[in-house]
Amino acid sequence: MALVVQKYGGTSVGTPDRIRNVARRVVDTVKAGHRVAVVVSAMSGETDALVALAHDIGGEHPEPREYDVLVATGEQKTIALLAMAIQQLGQPARSFTGAQMGMRTDTAHTRARIESIDHEVLLEVLDRGIVAVLAGFQGTDEAGNITTLGRGGSDTSAVAVAAALGADVCEIYTDVEGVFTTDPNLVAAARKLDRISYDEMIEMASLGAKVLQIRSVRFAMRYRVPLHVRSSFKLDEGTWVVPEEEMMEALVVSGVTYNRSEAKILVRGVQDVPGVAARLFTPLSNEGIVLDMIIQNLSRDGTTDVTFTVPRPDYARALEITRNTAAEMGAITVEADTEIAKVSIVGLGMKDHAGVASKMFQVLADEGINIQCISTSEIKVSVVIAEKYTELAVRALHAAFIEAGAAEPVPEA
Ligand code: ASP
Ligand code: MG
Repeated sequence: MALVVQKYGGTSVGTPDRIRNVARRVVDTVKAGHRVAVVVSAMSGETDALVALAHDIGGEHPEPREYDVLVATGEQKTIALLAMAIQQLGQPARSFTGAQMGMRTDTAHTRARIESIDHEVLLEVLDRGIVAVLAGFQGTDEAGNITTLGRGGSDTSAVAVAAALGADVCEIYTDVEGVFTTDPNLVAAARKLDRISYDEMIEMASLGAKVLQIRSVRFAMRYRVPLHVRSSFKLDEGTWVVPEEEMMEALVVSGVTYNRSEAKILVRGVQDVPGVAARLFTPLSNEGIVLDMIIQNLSRDGTTDVTFTVPRPDYARALEITRNTAAEMGAITVEADTEIAKVSIVGLGMKDHAGVASKMFQVLADEGINIQCISTSEIKVSVVIAEKYTELAVRALHAAFIEAGAAEPVPEA
């Protein structure tokens, strides 16, 4: 008998019929002999609608405490409805808001961090054969104020509950069948991965694969909670996200990801002296703008060029700030480009293989795609290219590294 935490996203509970479908899955899991806690999101579209209302009345920056009181109501609806649907099937169930399950967070409204969970309250209910239906996304701070964890936060709620309960697995039910080698909408040959390591999943999530909230994977990794990402509409196994030691074979490249939500800023002719990078980037970080890639060219005649990427929503502000700093520093020009994409390959097996990056560059060269920036880590290589080549690049890389697969191994390091 296992203790299973299941998390259902907005699409999975988007209509009364879908809620009844979830109830059946929950009851089937109980009938298979397991104790089950279920974490749910708001019905699809619900949180967006609540956020829109908050802005309608509260303006551009609604008061954060009241914002949280409002947006947390989406999940309160689903826990009640799902508990009813489970009870209709003859299975005892009880709903819990964040406060009722002792989901304690810090006080950072709209992006709170989980501090603790009252696992005894939940275990007591589970041990009596009752299904616990828990509101994701919400908690309360020390003073009892309602807090929320940030958009997409119910994944993190579910993993935190699984960690607190010492669950055997945290199943994340969604509208896709698992984690794919790349976006199936772009590449027909994309296939579902059976297993992926936490590290690979974190890279894939931060590089643009949208299956799981990245914070939840970090949390799962820290507490070693096995995740199983699967479809709420099918019975097939999905993708297991597990510790690296449990990867039977590490693929050199397990995924190709892309991200079209960054912009590039290039500062030409900066004096190449100590303190330049700090001077250029401090005003940006003071504004809370997070840079992704940073590249500094070799200097010629005592000056250098610096290129960096920022999230597109921050681009206009970043450009203005950079223009000001660059002028103060006597730089020659500031150029910018929003039509870029970051394309990456990710794989644990890269650690033990040489030649992966150069093969990637060759594949892109063969397609006539120019590489503007490169960054690497132990398990990924990312390049910035013109946005219009995104699909071509992703398809070519998927074909070369994943479809060709073992047929064309990269030489061992
Ligand atoms: N309902 C919240 C949102 O839409 C939390 C979640 O779905 O994970 O962001
Ligand atoms: Mg969601």
